[in-house]
Amino acid sequence: MPGKNTLKGINDQIAMEFSAAYTYLAMSGYLETQNLPGFAAWMRHQYEEELTHALRLFDFLGEVGEAVQLQAVPKPPVTFKGALDVMKKALAHERKVTASIHKLYESAMKEKHYPAQLMLQWFVDEQVEEEKTVTEIIAKLEMIGDHGPALLMLDRELASLNISAE
Ligand code: MG
Repeated sequence: MPGKNTLKGINDQIAMEFSAAYTYLAMSGYLETQNLPGFAAWMRHQYEEELTHALRLFDFLGEVGEAVQLQAVPKPPVTFKGALDVMKKALAHERKVTASIHKLYESAMKEKHYPAQLMLQWFVDEQVEEEKTVTEIIAKLEMIGDHGPALLMLDRELASLNISAE
């Protein structure tokens, strides 16, 4: 049957998006305990976005008449070493997701699964945006260092970013 690797890859990607969502939810909970409500709200928004990514893939399988095979979601980390550590780990996670999307896109090309290619193009774009946003926040946190008032300003900025996003 054509597109076997692509369809398996999409099922695996659904699990990866749920794993990203779960990780970001854990990060949001941690950030809340650090008295950074803006960071926590921003991360919770990322959690919600990852859920929409998973559902986008889930719905695609439905549209092409393929069975969805949901997988176990690994337990996310509980503790972190501050906001910078959280953001660095979020970036590492997004890079893994990007690599996985690219691999999946390659499968869809090799197997000439054109509908999957078109659907995955949105994800290729989305990953560029995701990595850019987190990279910017990391750069700002590195500039801030131990300067408390600057960290509180960034926290406020992230709270308002969260409201304006989509
Ligand atoms: Mg995603």
